[in-house]
Amino acid sequence: MTEDDGLEGRLQQVRGRVADAARAAGRDPGEVVTIVVTKFQPLALIERLAALGVTDFGESRHPEARDKAAALPDATWHFVGQLQTNKARQVARYADVIHSVDRAVLVDALAPVPTSAFLEIDLTGGATGRGGAAPDDAEGLAQRILEAGLPLLGVMAVAPQGEEPARAFARLAAVGERVRRVAPGATAMSAGMSGDFEAAIAAGATHLRIGVAITGPRPPVR
Ligand SMILES: *Cc1c(COP(=O)(O)O)cnc(C)c1O
Repeated sequence: MTEDDGLEGRLQQVRGRVADAARAAGRDPGEVVTIVVTKFQPLALIERLAALGVTDFGESRHPEARDKAAALPDATWHFVGQLQTNKARQVARYADVIHSVDRAVLVDALAPVPTSAFLEIDLTGGATGRGGAAPDDAEGLAQRILEAGLPLLGVMAVAPQGEEPARAFARLAAVGERVRRVAPGATAMSAGMSGDFEAAIAAGATHLRIGVAITGPRPPVR
């Protein structure tokens, strides 16, 4: 037997916290999808998580994501990182869901391989340049995503540093409501990471993107 590195314990603990937060918000824990973000983690760790019942994995870099998806084709693969337009079509071939659709040229590049999309919203007011559409552009982009034939699941964001996550997620939920005026089926919300997923659940998140709280620290970037 190998030494216990705590992976299973962390997974169970996070699952328990997710269920508690959902019930505290008057929500059914079964409607919250926990995506385990495994970027930079070795394939062996992903295989162990799959054996523990994890079905949804998140990755942020091509081609690392491609290779992992090829090794576990039965899992559901979520691409959560910034996506370069010239890689869009390749990523769409293996990603079941792309969480970072944030501009019209990317929509057009993805369209030939219709992949389920989240519309990423920048909640920082352009402060980081990390990606994400301005909240005011959300409805127009949602329209464009629908016209391109991509299934639009909902809105996605990362809470800005230095702001209370609950406030940021409330803004995201409001953008989601506006998006539903043009895309009534876009009822999902991708929000919540290791440090703020309980606040995201309280604000209505349906897809959590949790890395280190489950995996432990990421290995140094090669
Ligand atoms: C890395 C990452 C996560 C997971 O972050 P943790 O702090 O490890 O939970 C979630 N969302 C995105 C977009 C990420 O890049």
